[in-house]
Amino acid sequence: MTKITDNNKTIEEIYADVHEVHINTGEQKIFTKRIAGKFRKLKWLASSIWLLFFFGSYLRWGDRQAVLFDIPNRQFHIFELTILPQDFWILALLLLFFAILLAVVTALAGRVYCGFFCFQTIWTDIFTLIETKIEGNPSQQKKLANASFSFKKFYKLSLKYFLWLIISIFTGISFVAWFYDVYILWSDVFLLNLGTASFTTIALFTVGTFILAGFMREQTCFWLCPYARIQAVMVDKNSIVPSYDVLRGEPRGRLKKGDLVEGNGHCIECKQCIAVCPTGVDIRAGQQEGCIMCALCIDACDEIMQKIGKPTGLIKYDSWEGIMGHDEVPILKRARFWVYNLVLLLSIFGIIYGLSSQDALELKVLHARQPLYVLQSDGSIQNRYTLKILNKKTKDIYVDVRVDSDILKDLKIKGEIKNIKAEAGRVTSTTVFVSTDKKNLTQKSTDIKFSIIEVNTKKTATEMMKSFRKSIFLGKVN
Ligand code: SF4
Ligand code: SF4
Repeated sequence: MTKITDNNKTIEEIYADVHEVHINTGEQKIFTKRIAGKFRKLKWLASSIWLLFFFGSYLRWGDRQAVLFDIPNRQFHIFELTILPQDFWILALLLLFFAILLAVVTALAGRVYCGFFCFQTIWTDIFTLIETKIEGNPSQQKKLANASFSFKKFYKLSLKYFLWLIISIFTGISFVAWFYDVYILWSDVFLLNLGTASFTTIALFTVGTFILAGFMREQTCFWLCPYARIQAVMVDKNSIVPSYDVLRGEPRGRLKKGDLVEGNGHCIECKQCIAVCPTGVDIRAGQQEGCIMCALCIDACDEIMQKIGKPTGLIKYDSWEGIMGHDEVPILKRARFWVYNLVLLLSIFGIIYGLSSQDALELKVLHARQPLYVLQSDGSIQNRYTLKILNKKTKDIYVDVRVDSDILKDLKIKGEIKNIKAEAGRVTSTTVFVSTDKKNLTQKSTDIKFSIIEVNTKKTATEMMKSFRKSIFLGKVN
């Protein structure tokens, strides 16, 4: 295996390799150099969040998976919370929250998500790390790519593709594990007992990961990613992004006898910023669509500055206005900052309201239409209702049904009203009959109220559910 970082070369050695560094024009594969540095470390730290994607599904909550998107049963379990189809608006708000958060972060600090968190960028980084480990530095990789077929080439390519394939399969399985109990999934994988949907999803993810991260790499960001397209409207002259200090760097020119040429700026044309760039762009040409703002060129340039004894920061996080020495608009005076944050705040309130108003039990009452009421032989009038009890808990519970009215004091209720089993995560229906003596009725329609009471705790459905519990009692008035 080869050493993966290339930090110890002298300036002369770097100049000797410069002819191999090309700006990415899309026609040829780019071979990216890896170097150590503080943004490289930060990138690893940020990308470690994806460990959650791989291992989060193994977390248990009681007798089930802590986070499970149970599509066949149309339930999403997030620890104690169960979200049913009627609560999906909360998930929509959550998505809105993340979309706006992305917009806020992009407006302030550019494509931080692309550079540090995006799955395409991170998987590509890991695939190229494996490539560098097996095939060597960019010039060794190029040599191997152009070499004729040999056992060594076959071995290296096979090993690389094998490792890529393992990661791709593991990615597919890890994705499906959020929708399928992970332990059952693994046993189904080993017993070759996967259903069509799971098998197809794993296969698609495996092929997608292998091709997108292994072969298409930065081309995915250039041609397939819609977010890269809209970034131009999100970043402005005040966004703090990796930028080349053009005033300090220009006119650029190579060192002569180890020193800067009189009148030249600090950029010594070593092209290390291009060599380490995962998308192969030249940041010295200004902001461009291909830049995913991973800041690895800052590491590369800082290292060069240290080697030539100049201050670091020729490429640095700064805004265009800052680089040009203009006054920057303070963040609090930027309209888009306030608009984005307002939407962010609204979606947070919506999510908090949605979660706090979630009730473990919900009741819906449907009055029978045919017939509207029945006059019975004993002189009473009876109405029929269908009650739909939604139990959002993870366990079955038992409930009693009660009916009240401020006007009709002697209401009687019959039917299945005691110890009704409300199945976990399901709607349970029951039919009840409510009656009162005809002479009690003073109007054709009287408001009544149904309640459900949990047998064990004696708790009623919360007041939030009042509207679902109200109904009417119909009857003829003489
Ligand atoms: S900006 Fe820095 S890394 Fe890039 S060519 Fe100039 S000196 Fe080298
Ligand atoms: S130009 Fe710099 S910040 Fe942009 S993608 Fe390349 S290395 Fe990353």
